[in-house]
Amino acid sequence: MVKAVAAVARERGAPLFLEEIELDDPRDDEVLVRVAACGVCHTDIKARDGYGSVVFPIVLGHEGAGTIVEVGSAVRDLTPGDRVLLVSDYCGRCSRCRAGRTAYCEEGPRRTFGAVRPDGSTRARIGREAIRASFFGQSAFATHALASERNALKVSEELPLQLFAATTCGMVTGAGAVLQVLPVDPGRSLAVLGTGTVGLAAVMAARVAGASIIVAVDQRPSRLEHARELGASHVVDTSTTPDLPHTLREITEGGCDAILDTTGSGELQLAAVQALAVLGQLGIAGGGGEPGVPLGSLMVGGKSVRGIIQGDSSGTLGLQRLLQLHQAGRFPFERLVRPYPFERVNDAIEDSLSGDTVKPVLIFPGG
Ligand SMILES: [Zn+2]
Ligand SMILES: [Zn+2]
Repeated sequence: MVKAVAAVARERGAPLFLEEIELDDPRDDEVLVRVAACGVCHTDIKARDGYGSVVFPIVLGHEGAGTIVEVGSAVRDLTPGDRVLLVSDYCGRCSRCRAGRTAYCEEGPRRTFGAVRPDGSTRARIGREAIRASFFGQSAFATHALASERNALKVSEELPLQLFAATTCGMVTGAGAVLQVLPVDPGRSLAVLGTGTVGLAAVMAARVAGASIIVAVDQRPSRLEHARELGASHVVDTSTTPDLPHTLREITEGGCDAILDTTGSGELQLAAVQALAVLGQLGIAGGGGEPGVPLGSLMVGGKSVRGIIQGDSSGTLGLQRLLQLHQAGRFPFERLVRPYPFERVNDAIEDSLSGDTVKPVLIFPGG
């Protein structure tokens, strides 16, 4: 048993409480990580607010980074002292995992929002109270977290964990959507709806892909300014743009080859379909919105809509590619990151919601 301090979500929509929890010792296939840093993602906030199958009390946090302190007997490639970045967990056995589509693992819902082990057990407790502590296979809003060999990527000694904790979810999602899924090739056009972490990562990736027109769409001028700095060729402020489809068609001289929606807004998704070029594709990377797209409208023009989870990444491959791009100076995500001490987790969440901070990262004592 390992004692840790965790930010525990106890009820829907309420602030998190810092409490001492007891984590299990690592099982055969598990690793114990001393957490150095953890990014805050909108999915954490959605879970805090009761989205999906979340059961309280639960420890959130799914962008953990830290150092291995103990490994189970079946763990082969990680040893104590290794520094790791944690990604979303998957089973590794189902047909989708075997095909390399781990983002769509059959056990995904249980291993992400369910926050329990595959056998249904919880990883932590306070006294006799069970605490769900396998959120995305990690629950890294805590000084220590259990993960598995599968969802831990070993990184070099030099890599600053405090910064790179920002990369493992939203950045991979935005970059993967552009580089792996949508038809964003040299000379083509992409519009990105919403300029949070996912949207701005998509803008950076579109530059890597060689898109000639990259349009960032938002209603916050400061975010649009960020998007310009990171490579957007055009920006559209929806608060002063009465006809978004018309504006996007004008900028792209006929329609966008690809559009990525990160907002989940049915209204924006409908506008996006209207703004697509013939054979254009709309990627949906922001869930939870109301239905908006009349599907019959896709037929004329051969347009398509594609849902995208975690940028279609397979295991840690999406993250590895992103680290390579960063090393080559082509993915300057550090401009979006703002650190917060762990105990200010609720401030980090509020600043993310208000838009004051694009990407908060919690820094742990000794991290
Ligand atoms: Zn699977
Ligand atoms: Zn996330």
